[in-house]
Amino acid sequence: RCGFVAIVGRPNVGKSTLMNHLIGQKISITSKKAQTTRHKVNGIYTDNEAQLVFVDTPGFQTYHRNALNDRLNQNVTEAVAGVDVIVFVVEALRFSDADREVLQQLPKRIPVVLVINKVDKAKAKDQSVMQAFIKEVQQEFTFASIILVSAKHGLGVAQLVRTLKPML
Ligand code: GDP
Ligand code: MG
Repeated sequence: RCGFVAIVGRPNVGKSTLMNHLIGQKISITSKKAQTTRHKVNGIYTDNEAQLVFVDTPGFQTYHRNALNDRLNQNVTEAVAGVDVIVFVVEALRFSDADREVLQQLPKRIPVVLVINKVDKAKAKDQSVMQAFIKEVQQEFTFASIILVSAKHGLGVAQLVRTLKPML
């Protein structure tokens, strides 16, 4: 199996960190500062079953409309067109209108896997909040799968790969 996977989400949710873990190489720039990733970067994951070509994207900019942000959004739209699966990344306990806006801009015909990242930040007491959040987004959007991940620690990344393979 072989296919293209776009990693999409608002700035700073951990897209580049996730891709680095997925392909096991530091090729995408990660930073605390938003907009470090200005261009899509492709990374390739290969094993004896499948080849996944990842497209890292600059975060969708939804707060400020200006020429640079319009261009960044255009880059995301172009990167997403034609992929087999979209991995939509959000930050645990921080689902916002910015996330919703990104979701709304995704092409409806491409399956979306929801990745809830930074679960290492969620404490035991936050689990019910997380479940409520998952229920809430599922009422608004349809996901092929929902996976909890800590990109920073590599938690859940193997499960994400297992989920993506049959979707290609
Ligand atoms: P991007 O803008 O979506 O590409 O986000 P980055 O990958 O550049 O990450 C933004 C910040 O979040 C960086 O400081 C990362 O170290 C941090 N980060 C990413 N994933 C995780 C995670 O799973 N847990 C925690 N605690 N921090 C993370
Ligand atoms: Mg990035």
